[in-house]
Amino acid sequence: MRQVIVVGSGPAGYTAAIYAARARLAPLVVASSVEFGGELMKTTEVENFPGFADGIQGPELMTNMQRQAERFGAEVVYDDVVRLELEGPVKRVHLGNGDVHEALTVIYATGSAYRTLGLADETRLSGYGVSWCATCDGAFFRDKQVAVVGGGDSAMEEATFLTRFADTVHVIHRKDTLRASAAMQERAHADPKIRFHWNKEVARIHGGDLVTGIGLVDSVDGSETALDLSGVFIAIGADPRTHLVHGQLELTPEGTIAVAGRSSRTNLPGVFAAGDVIDPTYKQAATAAGSGVVAALDAEHYLAALPAQLRAGAVHPVAETVDA
Ligand code: NDP
Repeated sequence: MRQVIVVGSGPAGYTAAIYAARARLAPLVVASSVEFGGELMKTTEVENFPGFADGIQGPELMTNMQRQAERFGAEVVYDDVVRLELEGPVKRVHLGNGDVHEALTVIYATGSAYRTLGLADETRLSGYGVSWCATCDGAFFRDKQVAVVGGGDSAMEEATFLTRFADTVHVIHRKDTLRASAAMQERAHADPKIRFHWNKEVARIHGGDLVTGIGLVDSVDGSETALDLSGVFIAIGADPRTHLVHGQLELTPEGTIAVAGRSSRTNLPGVFAAGDVIDPTYKQAATAAGSGVVAALDAEHYLAALPAQLRAGAVHPVAETVDA
C-alpha cells in the first residue's frame, strides 16, 4: 500500500508528486496511457511559467517536472485510471491493465478536457481535418485555408501558431469581441494571415473523407455563409475531467471538484484535488503547479495525523492484479 497516489501528470500532478516525494512519501503518479504530461505536451513555447526568462517548450517543461519528481522517489505508471474507490481509510485505484493500487491518500489532478461543438460531422471528421491541437496537426495544413473556432487565449494561440503553415487562418467567433488577453489579441490582430469572422457560429462541417469547408450562421441576423477550407481547429475551452469521481466527490455549480476554502480537501477524508479540475477561473500552468503544492502539503498533514498503525501499513508499494 502507498501513502500517496497522484492521479494526473500535468503541472498540478507533477508538482504534487515533487513535494510528496521530497517529504519521503514515495508517491505513485498515474500518468495516463496516451495524454501523459497534460495539455502542455501539446503546446510550443511557454513564455509565462516563472523561472524561464527565455521561455521553454511545453513538452520540455513537463519532462523536467517528471524528472524532478522521479529524482526524489516518485514512481510513474503510464496507464489510465478506470475506477476509483475513495471512501474509507484505504483508497483503491483501478488501472486499465487490471492493476489495483491502494493508498492512504489520493491527489486527484486530472485537468480538463477540450469542449466540442456538438456537431455530428465534427466527430466523424476528427483527425481528417478537424483537430483540437494546432501543435500536433498544424503542419498538415501547409499553404491551406484553415479555421480556428473560439475567442479566448487558446484560440488566439492556435491561430497565431497556424500562421506558420497555413495560407490564411480564419478565426470564427460567436461574438464581436474577444475574451483573449490583450497581449494575445494584439498579436493576432497584427498578423496579416489571420482574418476574423465576427458573430459567426459553425453550423456545419462539410467533407466526405476530409474536411472541405464549413457552414456559418450569423448570430445576429441568422444569415448563412460558407467557407471553403481544409482544416478546422476547435479552441472553445475545456471542462474539468470529473467522470471518475461522480457520486463520490462533491462538485461546484461550475462542474469543478469542490474543495474546502483555499485548501485541496474534498468532501472525502484523504482525498485531495488540485489544478484545473478545481479551478473554473485561472487555469494557468503556474496556478496549477501552486495548487499541486497545496495538495501535497494537505496530504502530508493528513497522513501525519493518522494513527501510526494505519500508516505502518503503507510502507511497501505493491500493486495487486485482479481479474476483470
Ligand atoms: P475560454 O473559456 O477562455 O474561451 C473559450 C472561447 O470559446 C470563448 O471565446 C467562448 O466564447 C468560445 N466558446 C465556448 N463555447 C463555444 C461554443 N459552443 N461555440 C462557439 N464558441 C464557444 O477558454 P480558453 O481555452 O481559450 O482558455 C482557458 C484558460 O486558459 C483561460 O484562463 C486562458 O487565459 C488560459 N490560457 C492561457 C494561455 C496563455 O497564457 N498562453 C493559452 C491558452 C489558454 P464567448 O467569449 O462567447 O464565451
